Amino acid sequence: MTGRAGSDQVAAPSRLIGWSRRLGLGPIGWASGVISAALGAMGLGAVLCLWFPAVLTTPSLRQVYDMTVIRALIKAALLVAFGLGALSVVLKRRKALGLLGMGFSLMATLMGGSAVEVATPVRASDYLGLDWFLLNLLILATLFVPVEQLFARRPEQKIFRPGWTTDLAHFAVSHLAVQTTVLLTLVPAAVFFRWAVSPVLQAWVAGQPALLQFVEILAIADLTQYAIHRLFHRVPFLWRFHAIHHSSRSLDWLAGSRLHLVDIVVTRAVGFVPVYVLGFATAPTYAYLVFVSFQAVLIHANVRFRFGPLAWILATPRFHHWHHSAEPVAVDKNFAVHLPVIDRLFGTYYLPPEAWPAEYGIAGDPVPEAYLGQVVFPFLPAVTSASKR
Ligand SMILES: [Zn+2]
Ligand SMILES: [Zn+2]
Repeated sequence: MTGRAGSDQVAAPSRLIGWSRRLGLGPIGWASGVISAALGAMGLGAVLCLWFPAVLTTPSLRQVYDMTVIRALIKAALLVAFGLGALSVVLKRRKALGLLGMGFSLMATLMGGSAVEVATPVRASDYLGLDWFLLNLLILATLFVPVEQLFARRPEQKIFRPGWTTDLAHFAVSHLAVQTTVLLTLVPAAVFFRWAVSPVLQAWVAGQPALLQFVEILAIADLTQYAIHRLFHRVPFLWRFHAIHHSSRSLDWLAGSRLHLVDIVVTRAVGFVPVYVLGFATAPTYAYLVFVSFQAVLIHANVRFRFGPLAWILATPRFHHWHHSAEPVAVDKNFAVHLPVIDRLFGTYYLPPEAWPAEYGIAGDPVPEAYLGQVVFPFLPAVTSASKR
């Protein structure tokens, strides 16, 4: 009897898997495993932030956190990760993802979970923006992954398409290094352009209506970005840095993160100079920062939205996808990030009606696929021509 009961218990999980296959629950098992592993890893990261806030969290974000909400979020993430992990283990023949999510959740809970005490005030120190990375990843993935699934421009493209780990590494490093990149963005303007500051002009600029200042920042920043972006394409040494961004063969919300740190810092630092000199008020400047970080993700997304008349004013996914096109006719076109009118003015506008590029990337694929290979690529002697031209 005991033997029979034992073999029934062993047979039960495989019978469940059989049912889940017959009922077409395989994709649910896979999706729950992926969400479990992602939420478990993020929950564990958040608990590490509670343990080591001075070195893993961003001081300006710490000031605005509502810890009741943050702790509730961590608790929910760990619970959902464990629950979906268990569901995935039951439904799926391959258990690794579900077990990974359950393992992360369990480890985070054993470390104290959402209840870890934080000693305040948190001492000042150099830090990695782990909280900045986790929050951005959570918000952007929650927003863009379902939208890309529902309104895909390329429905056949998978969420975990080739190159996604490289792009996630770029996303992670640029967010973790937020302290350094912000410093390198702000300091050059303050050091080299302090002479250009006029308190009278700044008072006048900051005194304008906030919405007007926002539009002005958009136009001025995009004019500067247009120039520096065109230089990155034109000057062979700079192109080797920017080629990293153009090496993506699949575009989606994560692909826009594929940027060399030198490309990020130089573009932002130069773009910040006129904003600093003119002295725009804080609110419109922050509004611009939020807008640019959202739009930079959106224009790379795998979505087929056209945006109607808005496409005349603002850069859309279709406009920027053509900038990434591998087709010779579209090379060195659509440099603007916000306002396509700048490309119209300077003769670099390219947007055939209705059409999307057939292929993305650089002819000859000169850029290595691995993250570290991409970091060192611009500094290595050019074996083959890295130019698109
Ligand atoms: Zn470019
Ligand atoms: Zn791009």
